[in-house]
Amino acid sequence: MDYKQFVADVPDFPEKGVTFRDISPLMEDGEAYSQATNDIAHYAADKGVEMICGPEARGFIVGCPVAYKLGVGFAPARKKGKLPRETVSVSYNLEYGKASLYMHKDAVKPGQKVLVVDDLMATGGTIAATIELVEKLGGIVVGTAFLIELRDLHGRDKIKDYDMFTLMQY
Ligand code: IMP
Repeated sequence: MDYKQFVADVPDFPEKGVTFRDISPLMEDGEAYSQATNDIAHYAADKGVEMICGPEARGFIVGCPVAYKLGVGFAPARKKGKLPRETVSVSYNLEYGKASLYMHKDAVKPGQKVLVVDDLMATGGTIAATIELVEKLGGIVVGTAFLIELRDLHGRDKIKDYDMFTLMQY
């Protein structure tokens, strides 16, 4: 499927000079969303994935239907103050400033094979932080998956030790 027809390119968002790749049209099209889910699920099944983790918020939109399809669990990586029980956290650098992600301490079992997903990889900071959280919990990251990779930002360099599956590259 030509997935790019379901991505809206938004110039100058969130700031001038940046082209935002908006995946809403893909999610809004039942066939495209389902096909994208199936493609990632095939990749995950080949890797023997037992658990899926994704960062707030679009990582949930991509990861949850894959988890459902495979009959495995989904564990969210969330922003500060959202998770009610004991957490582990990782801080990472944004273009301006810092951010943190949190997971419940018991979200992933030691030795569990985990697929880490998000909608899009830009600099790779968000996915690297999510991988670090999973590993803090003892999970084994057997792959990563994204709808979109923005190649110019070289995010892949941050996660070069991990296998990666993407549906679209820009
Ligand atoms: P990174 O940490 O620089 O790789 O940025 C990736 C994170 O920012 C992901 O969670 C994306 O949802 C979000 N993001 C960055 N740029 C875009 C974009 O153009 N479209 C959609 N999401 C984006």
